[in-house]
Amino acid sequence: MTLALWKDLSPFDQPLKKPSAASPHILVIGSRVTGLTSAWVLLDRGYRVTVLSCEWVNSKHRLTSQTAGALWEYPPAGAKYVTETEDDLVLIEDVLRARFQADAIVNFPGLGAKVLAGDRSVYPIRGGLVRVVNDGIHFPKVDAALTISADVSVDEIIFLVPRNDNILLIGGIAELHRGSLDLTLDSPIIKRMRKRCEAFSPGLENARLDPEYPFAQGLRPFRRQNVRVERELP
Ligand SMILES: Cc1cc2nc3c(=O)[nH]c(=O)nc-3n(C[C@H](O)[C@H](O)[C@H](O)COP(=O)(O)OP(=O)(O)OC[C@H]3O[C@@H](n4cnc5c(N)ncnc54)[C@H](O)[C@@H]3O)c2cc1C
Repeated sequence: MTLALWKDLSPFDQPLKKPSAASPHILVIGSRVTGLTSAWVLLDRGYRVTVLSCEWVNSKHRLTSQTAGALWEYPPAGAKYVTETEDDLVLIEDVLRARFQADAIVNFPGLGAKVLAGDRSVYPIRGGLVRVVNDGIHFPKVDAALTISADVSVDEIIFLVPRNDNILLIGGIAELHRGSLDLTLDSPIIKRMRKRCEAFSPGLENARLDPEYPFAQGLRPFRRQNVRVERELP
């Protein structure tokens, strides 16, 4: 489904359709790209929304959705926000619904689906990105995103994505079932990644690392059967 600003989504601090006290109330679990996008859509369709999450965007410990090529930092206006860690929803659904007087719970917990939705098929795919200054001084400014698979393997690709804040993301890797965030700029797989992109885009070898945040890594939530979109009724 394609969503258009102004038509489907309000860019303002007021939803397109104002909720009334009688509007259904939805409890959204998860505060990253899928949870917040869904909260935004629900708000603009006139629902009352509470977003509950164990973690929020922060600059110390960056969450998966913050490290990706796309970026989402700001929660939509109009919802209520609650910080809490939840357990298996099968066990606590009734309690949560009663507590928040929610008509429905929608759950976007990423890897947390293992616990919250009892989904044992979810696993991490580790990714890493080198962040360099993209101001056109040390290499020709890159202003269009580009990803291509490399000859080496499908898990090690060329990924060049400019961010609007003069940063270029250099990637990418996809390490299945690797759940620890212990990669560094000196890890062999990261060095290979840089070399691959430098060979592809001459000049990149002169790039300066972003002094504030030179290396990003995160765990992509993944499952073989694709995204799980299911309605569970008692
Ligand atoms: C290096 C890297 C590069 C990437 N590049 C791209 C890209 O270019 N394009 C792309 O489409 N994707 C990319 N991805 C993948 C993308 O980042 C993820 O698919 C996406 O961020 C997942 O978002 P999400 O909202 O589903 O989950 P998450 O970001 O994992 O958020 C899960 C939310 O659930 C909450 N939560 C979890 N458990 C609980 C609990 N028990 N109780 C309460 N709250 C809980 C968490 O606090 C969090 O708010 C990349 C990922 C990485 C790591």
